[in-house]
Amino acid sequence: VVRLRGIVKAFGSTTVLDGIDLDVARGEVVCLIGPSGAGKSTLLRCINGLERITGGSIEVGGERLSYDEKHLNGIRSRIGMVFQSFNLFPHMTVRENICVAQREVLGRGAAEARDRAHALLERVGLDHKAEAYPDNLSGGQQQRVAIARALAMDPALMLFDEPTSALDPELVGEVLAVMKDLASEGMTMVVVTHEMRFARDAADRVVLLADGGIAEQGPPENVLLRPSSARGQAFLQEIG
Ligand code: ATP
Ligand code: MG
Repeated sequence: VVRLRGIVKAFGSTTVLDGIDLDVARGEVVCLIGPSGAGKSTLLRCINGLERITGGSIEVGGERLSYDEKHLNGIRSRIGMVFQSFNLFPHMTVRENICVAQREVLGRGAAEARDRAHALLERVGLDHKAEAYPDNLSGGQQQRVAIARALAMDPALMLFDEPTSALDPELVGEVLAVMKDLASEGMTMVVVTHEMRFARDAADRVVLLADGGIAEQGPPENVLLRPSSARGQAFLQEIG
């Protein structure tokens, strides 16, 4: 689904990503870990075109990413993104939040969009909140709505950037549970996370990003329990 070759991303004279090669297969769940400032968010933002790469190439679903607006909108509509902050529209109900892009981007009719919204809300355990406004939901509930909203676009790929790190600890589990369900249903996912437990349980592959490159990657039990690189060992020490 995703094919990255030689990705270079510099901000001014600072090179953040220095030649990243990464493939993500259909149905694969990749957890991206690494120290703060390693470029994890930047890499996700490059994949959906929110950041323009300095060098290399990106293919999503066999299509090479280019930066003309029409093409970019097409690619973005096939990539769901969930951020640390939930970014729901505060003046819209939960249901409207999930319907608006379906209607405006995919051109779905009102009834179809609404049915889909309810089905997705049920899936994330929130159908009873369809008429609520985001402000009246807990952070965990808002994040589950954000996931439902992204899924409503029938994305080929879901990107998550630390989706639980803004949540109170007691709300983390409900969001991770939704993500685990998605993973087991075969969604292709790239997840930046500090939740090592999630990485161990849900990832097919863990990728450790450090010093501008991939320091180590492999099955979670290898990367998280017996890293082979010095960088991997150091990172594990840091996170305890
Ligand atoms: P964290 O774990 O703290 O979220 P990260 O791995 O997601 O870190 P990034 O946010 O991708 O790291 O940032 C990587 C580096 O790029 C940092 O040094 C950051 O300061 C720099 N950077 C990110 N965005 C910009 C920008 N728009 N302009 C300049 N520098 C940036
Ligand atoms: Mg980040």
